[in-house]
Amino acid sequence: EKHTKKILITGGAGFIGSHVVRLFVNTYPDYKIVNLDALTYAGNLENLKDVEGKPNYTFVKGDITHADFIYNLFDKYRFDGVIHLAAESHVDRSITDPLAFVKTNVIGTMNLLNAAKKLWLDTHQDSREGARFYHISTDEVYGSLGENGLFTEETAYDPNSPYSASKASSDHFVRAYGETYGLPYVISNCSNNYGPNQFPEKLIPLFINNIIKKKPLPVYGDGNYTRDWLYVIDHAKAIDLIFHRGKNGETYNIGGFNEWKNIDLVKILCKLMDKKLKRAEGESERLITYVKDRPGHDLRYAIDATKINKELGWKPSVTFEEGLERTIDWYLGNQQWLENITTGDYKNYYKEQYK
Ligand code: NAD
Repeated sequence: EKHTKKILITGGAGFIGSHVVRLFVNTYPDYKIVNLDALTYAGNLENLKDVEGKPNYTFVKGDITHADFIYNLFDKYRFDGVIHLAAESHVDRSITDPLAFVKTNVIGTMNLLNAAKKLWLDTHQDSREGARFYHISTDEVYGSLGENGLFTEETAYDPNSPYSASKASSDHFVRAYGETYGLPYVISNCSNNYGPNQFPEKLIPLFINNIIKKKPLPVYGDGNYTRDWLYVIDHAKAIDLIFHRGKNGETYNIGGFNEWKNIDLVKILCKLMDKKLKRAEGESERLITYVKDRPGHDLRYAIDATKINKELGWKPSVTFEEGLERTIDWYLGNQQWLENITTGDYKNYYKEQYK
């Protein structure tokens, strides 16, 4: 009898996770894909309406911080692969509530590692064959760059925010489980993502949303913070490649070779939006307002993605302009999605953050 690959994707109702779930469900009809998500403020099953009901897809609502629940889930499904994306993901929230980030990002990851170790190494050693624990991480673990240089896989970890410290910590535990117990793993560290379905607390959807509503565009500090941007679907494709063809025990950096100063990015967005909304040139730019800097703000992130390019043949498939255009079109076409997720709690959070 043919073995069906059973893959656990955590955080699949979130921004990146929903694109990964969709890609896997559509590309691998023979797999069984289980999406585990606690549906926090950031998780939304509306993101996955088009894959619901497909025979190779199951959604499970649950929290990775509950160890017993996670053990039972692994026992029930006997996964051969874990793609772990569930996390608290927003730097600003990590500054006001760091412990929530330790709970989900560190303890939650530990629970998954322990369950995978138990299943693959302790109770069913034969199930280790082909098994793999894949941790999705961020380039923010490397800290900040000056004007020059790029993060490579050899760059030392130097996290500055509670968010990046929690992700660095979980990366370390994944690697330690590999070294200490022989758990088969891969890690990837990716730059800033943008695209459809991103929660509008993050820069690009926040600004698109505010431009539509003619609300102020809050730019931190002097606007010179520099980030490398990658279209979310290109990240999902990189995850697919690494999961299937990456080497155990390795780390891969993923980035867009696409660095932008925040202020220049905002200006491009304003231009594109003026055109889309048939507004006078310069109208949206007038919404820019500088706000008090984020504490511990990293000046610049930039990824050297040579390794994944050379070893796995990956490169971004869309230019920044194309990706932004698709993203803007998606938000304009999905105003109801925005309304649905930005009521209640989020309104209060927003008021506190930018008061
Ligand atoms: P997101 O906040 O949109 O989604 C996170 C998902 O995890 C949500 O669906 C949420 O409900 C779920 N979740 C949170 N806590 C949980 C818990 N305790 N148990 C189960 N599920 C829980 O985040 P995202 O932007 O899609 O990021 C996904 C992953 O990719 C994260 O690990 C993040 O660190 C990493 N990452 C993000 C970026 C980026 O630019 N967004 C870049 C690099 C890496």
